[in-house]
Amino acid sequence: MRALRLHGPRDVRLDDIPEPALRPGTVKIRVEWAGICGSDLHQYSHPAFPPGYVHPVLGEQGPFVLGHEFSGRVTEVADDVDGIEAGALVAVEPLVSDGTCPACLRGEYNLCDSFGFIGLMGGGGGMSEYVVVPARNAHVMPDGSSAETAALVEPLTVAWHAVRRSGLADGGTALVVGGGPIGLGLLLAAKAHGARFVAVSEVSEARKQLARDLGADLVLDPTQEDVVARIRDEVPGGVDASYEASGAGKPAVDALLGSLRKGGHAVTVAAGRPAEFDPNQLMLTEVNYTGSFGYNGPDFPAVIAAIHDGRLNPDGLVSDRIALEDAPAKGYAELADNAGGHVKILVHP
Ligand SMILES: [Zn+2]
Repeated sequence: MRALRLHGPRDVRLDDIPEPALRPGTVKIRVEWAGICGSDLHQYSHPAFPPGYVHPVLGEQGPFVLGHEFSGRVTEVADDVDGIEAGALVAVEPLVSDGTCPACLRGEYNLCDSFGFIGLMGGGGGMSEYVVVPARNAHVMPDGSSAETAALVEPLTVAWHAVRRSGLADGGTALVVGGGPIGLGLLLAAKAHGARFVAVSEVSEARKQLARDLGADLVLDPTQEDVVARIRDEVPGGVDASYEASGAGKPAVDALLGSLRKGGHAVTVAAGRPAEFDPNQLMLTEVNYTGSFGYNGPDFPAVIAAIHDGRLNPDGLVSDRIALEDAPAKGYAELADNAGGHVKILVHP
């Protein structure tokens, strides 16, 4: 079958590899759509899993198939698997864990000592015709769902988990720093949690417009205006929650903490540059500053339910749809060089 594999820095190749075989506890999936993610682009430019790397859970030798945000139709189901039928449309949860470490035993498997991602560190991936994944990683979409929307569930779930971490409640207020795929997902997830006011801070014109189209109450450009002052004008006392999805380092962290109300929650979601801040700011205001990594237990089902009942509508997040053979140039290279001109590029293997 055809698969895109990462062979080295900026070296994505369309390879012909054997179709993966069904194992006990797994399902085989014909991939419909796979998205390209910011962490893929980091891997693309600076691969962190060199030849010889073997993930302790996934147990595979590279070069690895790319693609950890994907949907597809189940084609085969192992005999020992219940609850999934051939033909089902599934959104794949790519996070794998060992199931035995203290974090896993607490149910926080995203914090597993041996966490890994299918489509990044082995285990096949979405940038191929077929993939075999553990049945527990395949979430069945409700009847009537589109395969394209199902491929967006993973990045939306990253955002959903961060909003859950922030405790944002019905009627709440929020600032999102960064309007890329995760930032726009945070906007949608905050609205789905009942937020009455969500501002987005972003520099790209295309992404600013998309933030407005997706329901942002205020869109700010940090290169043109004072984000903290504008937020405090709009929401006296500051917002309940702020989310860092830009990776921009100190300016982003300053906006995050400066815009927050006393006792509010700031969450860093994006990997980014280190930033200094004054811990006295946390002490004096009882602000909570936390991180959010991936997702766990209830997050995938919650996002699928929110999409199904209309609270969360991701239409508009997809900026391009391309074929597998075009993905090295029009997907990975294009996003690495011109990210601001795109949101989510979906690939059809
Ligand atoms: Zn674990």
